[in-house]
This record gives sequence, C-alpha cells and structure tokens, in this order.
Amino acid sequence: MDFISQFAVSLDAILGEEKDTILYLDSHTHDDVFQERTMAVVNRYPGDVRTDDKWVSVGLHPWHVNDDWQVQLEKMRSEASLPCVCVVGECGLDKCCESNFRRQIEAFRAQVLLAEECGKPMIIHCVKSFQEIMAIHKEVRPQQKWLIHGFRGKPELVKQIMAKGMLVSFGHHYNVNSLAYVALNCRSLYLETDDCGLSIRQIYENVRRHLSSGSLG
Ligand SMILES: [Zn+2]
Repeated sequence: MDFISQFAVSLDAILGEEKDTILYLDSHTHDDVFQERTMAVVNRYPGDVRTDDKWVSVGLHPWHVNDDWQVQLEKMRSEASLPCVCVVGECGLDKCCESNFRRQIEAFRAQVLLAEECGKPMIIHCVKSFQEIMAIHKEVRPQQKWLIHGFRGKPELVKQIMAKGMLVSFGHHYNVNSLAYVALNCRSLYLETDDCGLSIRQIYENVRRHLSSGSLG
C-alpha cells in the first residue's frame, strides 16, 4: 500500500459505534502534540524537520513563497529523502494571498518534481487555482498521489478532481454534498485537522453527523 492510502478512513470507521477502539487518521495537521490512538501526518516547513519526527510532510507553502524560495527548496531537498518525511507539501497555489502567483507556480512545479524524484505523495493547498493545479497534473502526469487538502468546493469540482486521479481531504469546513459524494463513491474519506484547533475525533464526529443525517443509502 502506498503511504497516503493508509490515511483513507473507511466509512465503517466513521459510521460505526467503535469510537473507543478505532485508530483516528489525520492526513494533515500543524499540531504535533501527541494524541492517543491517532496517526497523523504533521506538517513542517523547510528546515524544521526534527530528529524525533515520525511521519511528517515538508513543503514550501504558497503563502511563504518569497524571493528566497530556491534557498528554501534546497533545504527541502536535503530533508525530503529522510525516512520520516513521508509526504511533500503542503505546497500549492493560492490566488488569495500576497505571494506573486507566477513565482508560486515555479515553486510548486519544483516541488512536484522533487516529489516524483523521491517517490513521495503530495499534500496540496489550493485556493481558487484548481484549473492551474489540474493543468499541471495533466502535463506532468505524476506517478505520486496528490491529496488536495481542506477541500471546500462543490460536488462538480470534486468530480473533476477525482476524474483526474487526484484525491481530496476534508477538515473543519466543507461542502456537505461533496463529502457525501466522496463517501458514496469511494466508501472512504481523507480527514484532517490542519490548524483548525479541533481534534481529529471532533472532525470524525462532525462528518459522522453529516453523513448520518444525509442520504447515504
Ligand atoms: Zn495546512
């Protein structure tokens, strides 16, 4: 099994009654406080990987793509091959932040190549840039999985993304119809806490409530 697939939460785990025994899976978090019975991919910025890290992602976030992005990329390059670095990211594109968008694209493309070189999946931050992300995916045809995190888009968008072979992960805020669409079609979901301040158990609880009250069939 590839690394990221371990974080796919089955519908049984979400809807079942075994709340006290299941292992909670958090595909993307900025919180590295250990939580019991939780497996998480903790995000680190370039140069911040620690010797006691277990499973981390390292990436240059689009908000932080500055003049020195190539220096940051070199830091990442030396960390990306470490065994504890399981994922490249979070990285991506964001049209609602200050960083120069053209430079964001350069930095993202460089990280896509790095992920392919080191054979690791990606966690992607995407704000109003889905067309660009899908175009780069189509052009590069990556071997590695791309997980678009914090997905809040509508079902039409999630259908397009999944048709391209990409994955999405849901956090504190999401479109309930998109959540139900993925749950029905994949029978599993990627869930995350990101930096929302809730625990992954609370995210599971929200998702359980939404799926139970919806029409899952
Ligand atoms: Zn994040």
